[in-house]
Amino acid sequence: MSDYDIIVVGGGPAGSTTAEHAARNGVSVLVLERREIIGEPVMCGEFMPDTSEMKVTFPKVSDMDELFDVPESLISRRMDLFRMIAPSGRYWDVRFAGYTTDRDRFDRFLSEKARKAGAEIRTSVRVTGVEGNEVITEEGRLSAKVVVGADGPLSTVARSLGFPRNKDMYPAVTGQAEGDFPPVMEMHFGSIAPGAYAWVLPKGHGANVGVGFSPKLADGRLIDHYANFLKRRGLTVTTRTVGKLVPSNGPIARTASESALVVGDAAGHVMAVNGGGIPIAMICGRIAGRAAASHVRDGTPLKEYEQEWRRQVAKPLHTAVNTKRMATMFMGTSRRTEWAMGVVGARRMGKMIRLRPVFP
Ligand SMILES: Cc1cc2nc3c(=O)[nH]c(=O)nc-3n(C[C@H](O)[C@H](O)[C@H](O)COP(=O)(O)OP(=O)(O)OC[C@H]3O[C@@H](n4cnc5c(N)ncnc54)[C@H](O)[C@@H]3O)c2cc1C
Repeated sequence: MSDYDIIVVGGGPAGSTTAEHAARNGVSVLVLERREIIGEPVMCGEFMPDTSEMKVTFPKVSDMDELFDVPESLISRRMDLFRMIAPSGRYWDVRFAGYTTDRDRFDRFLSEKARKAGAEIRTSVRVTGVEGNEVITEEGRLSAKVVVGADGPLSTVARSLGFPRNKDMYPAVTGQAEGDFPPVMEMHFGSIAPGAYAWVLPKGHGANVGVGFSPKLADGRLIDHYANFLKRRGLTVTTRTVGKLVPSNGPIARTASESALVVGDAAGHVMAVNGGGIPIAMICGRIAGRAAASHVRDGTPLKEYEQEWRRQVAKPLHTAVNTKRMATMFMGTSRRTEWAMGVVGARRMGKMIRLRPVFP
């Protein structure tokens, strides 16, 4: 007899969405989250694409309106223009609808949905390992028919159970800048953020700003690149600098076993071209929750989870990995970046953001 039908490790977007959809299907669900308060501290650019854009990017995902039904109170600022800025200051504008949110409140909203669906949420509980169907915490062991690893890029669950690990992780840091910003989402490329980009994402008040880089292409420390970006862009940040790793090599090769799943960052469910992972964590979390509940209720093999998320999102995610690999060849120096951006142009940049092949 197990303590719970399903234990989800991690209370981020992947874990909460998995928990919500499993609980909705009538099984008992426990979420274990090591943070004291869900969503804090915020380590994110806080950008979400509009649902209309998600439908274009992931045409095989159904019921997006229901999945991404976010209350207006969680929308900090709506915008529809990305500005891609080359090292010289030359830029290309790309229409793309989206919004910034307050990620701490956003994560708590998803967690609350899971709780309302019937899941139990325990915070301040760190999982140190998983052995078979037992989840080991600092307070003891708990058993479940299905264990879900939704515990981020360095997943303890994935490591314990021998799932492949994320490769090619990019560190990224962020903070909140003060001031008034026009409704334009800036992405800065070149030696300011080798192999990735620096961003300014306006919010209702101020802006979320940050830098990510490729450790293979960058010299020096990320924090110095961040300080340099703030200085050059004239940004005043008063919040603590926080950051973590972004899986940048696409989904891992195996995400399900007989009695466990991994989802979200833990599974490499991230758009490699821009590091965005919240929407995919939610899409794959919904699939994971439903599959885990079906397994508990009628023994449906968990590999159906893997088949289903691959059917819905693998193609665009792999296109993004290929595009990123190609782009990386030109992102080592500012001169090459400048040249490559001129060749690519705004129309193809729009394709890149929407995870479409850039060259036919
Ligand atoms: C600087 C930065 C900026 C980003 N900006 C954006 C953006 O603008 N838009 C976007 O879509 N994506 C962005 N991302 C990516 C996005 O944050 C992730 O893809 C997303 O959070 C993935 O959700 P998740 O639930 O899989 O993982 P997480 O949000 O990382 O959640 C995992 C949870 O598991 C918990 N946990 C971890 N280990 C344990 C353990 N052992 N025991 C218990 N709990 C544990 C963690 O505390 C955490 O709450 C950004 C990432 C970074 C680093």
